[in-house]
Amino acid sequence: MNWRKRNHVNKKNTADKQLLFKRVHRNLTLLFTGIAGMILIVMSICYLYMSEKEWKDNSYLSFLNESNTILSNFKNQETVTYSWLSKVSFHNHFLMAVYDNGSLLSYSNSSLTEEEKILTDSIFSSIQEDLSFPDSVDLDYSTSHIDFTYQSSAHVTYYVNAARIGNSSLYAIILFSTQSLKEQLNRQRLRFLLVDLIGLSALFLFAFYYTKKLLVPIRENHEKQNAFIAAASHELRTPLAVILSSVTAFPQAETPMKEQLLQTIEKESRQMSTLINDMLTLAKADNHAWNFVLEETELDTLLLNSYEAFYPLAAQKDIRLQIELPDTALPACLCDSQRISQVLAILMSNALSYGKKGGYIKLSLHYSSPCFHLSVEDNGIGISDEAKKHIFDRFYREDPSRSHKEHFGLGLCIAKEIVDFHHGRILVKDTPGGGSTFFIILSNK
Ligand code: ADP
Repeated sequence: MNWRKRNHVNKKNTADKQLLFKRVHRNLTLLFTGIAGMILIVMSICYLYMSEKEWKDNSYLSFLNESNTILSNFKNQETVTYSWLSKVSFHNHFLMAVYDNGSLLSYSNSSLTEEEKILTDSIFSSIQEDLSFPDSVDLDYSTSHIDFTYQSSAHVTYYVNAARIGNSSLYAIILFSTQSLKEQLNRQRLRFLLVDLIGLSALFLFAFYYTKKLLVPIRENHEKQNAFIAAASHELRTPLAVILSSVTAFPQAETPMKEQLLQTIEKESRQMSTLINDMLTLAKADNHAWNFVLEETELDTLLLNSYEAFYPLAAQKDIRLQIELPDTALPACLCDSQRISQVLAILMSNALSYGKKGGYIKLSLHYSSPCFHLSVEDNGIGISDEAKKHIFDRFYREDPSRSHKEHFGLGLCIAKEIVDFHHGRILVKDTPGGGSTFFIILSNK
């Protein structure tokens, strides 16, 4: 595949992934808004239902209280005047009709509209039977009145309280139109609808931003993984290409050349094996599948072992290896000794690779309770400030020409994973006068 095609495929993959994340983002937003919105609506409906019921009950009760007072006053009065009736009706927003011998009395007659007269007439004819007691029965107020709700032909609900005055043929009917109550309830419903709409919009916005934020680390992780795979395949391709070309050239090659080709194949295979091991190590770290054996470790012994292991290599490269240990005995450090040795090996190997011929590498250990400070100092090529920000990234190498073929840019991130596991810190500073110094800080706490 040429680079144009590969570039095209990469761009298409990125666009597909972006579309996928957009779809996941949209679906999560809708799901969150849907669920939370549903809860909000159900709760509002329940609250609205209960408050409406309470409102209706209260208004019926207050109607009964007021109308009962009026009716009992009416019953107890010797004479009932038109002005008293109209005052009572006006003050309580009631309609009042008085029937004597089956016909509407003229004083209430004049205050009612034609429609209201039809209404009171139909109510009067329906209650007559309920309130018809033999004249001999002495009625108290509680037995001689009746209350109910009535729906008019115009679909208006009325509260009705009607009474027969004593055992005479006089009937009083009090009506209260619930139209204004209905309007109040409608206004309340509208307010709830508005509040719910605002709540739903706020939920949508919150869900939109929250899920977007939630997806950021997943997206970053996904992108990192892609970059890792791309870089890994790129790194593997180079030694593989060398091995393949050596194998192809092998049958036609002369005997001394054959030996050289075999050496190349072996060298490249070893590099591939190192790279694959490093990648597996990092993959295990990502999956939290590392087995750490924490034990009481004497760090000075660990440093001495590293010093001895790297001494011949340093001598070969004409680099002076130094070690600086504390004079007094140190407490043991609780760590995985093999992994910390691995970190030291990575730092030493880098110091040797990027060190200067005739230069030095100094290993040191200090203790300042409760922290152990290990350092690997060299006076080599040093690391630029810009590169310092990236050297712990996977496959990062400051030298783009990749002149150090045995280096893949994975060493420092493995070292960081190990130190992180120990809840320690790893950092780099410039060595005064040139070069780099790596510090590892481990704590016994
Ligand atoms: P590599 O396998 O390439 O050494 P590392 O992760 O160990 O990968 O290091 C990443 C990069 O950091 C190296 O490519 C190099 O550019 C820089 N680096 C690391 N150690 C040193 C050092 N002691 N001196 C100078 N540069 C260093």
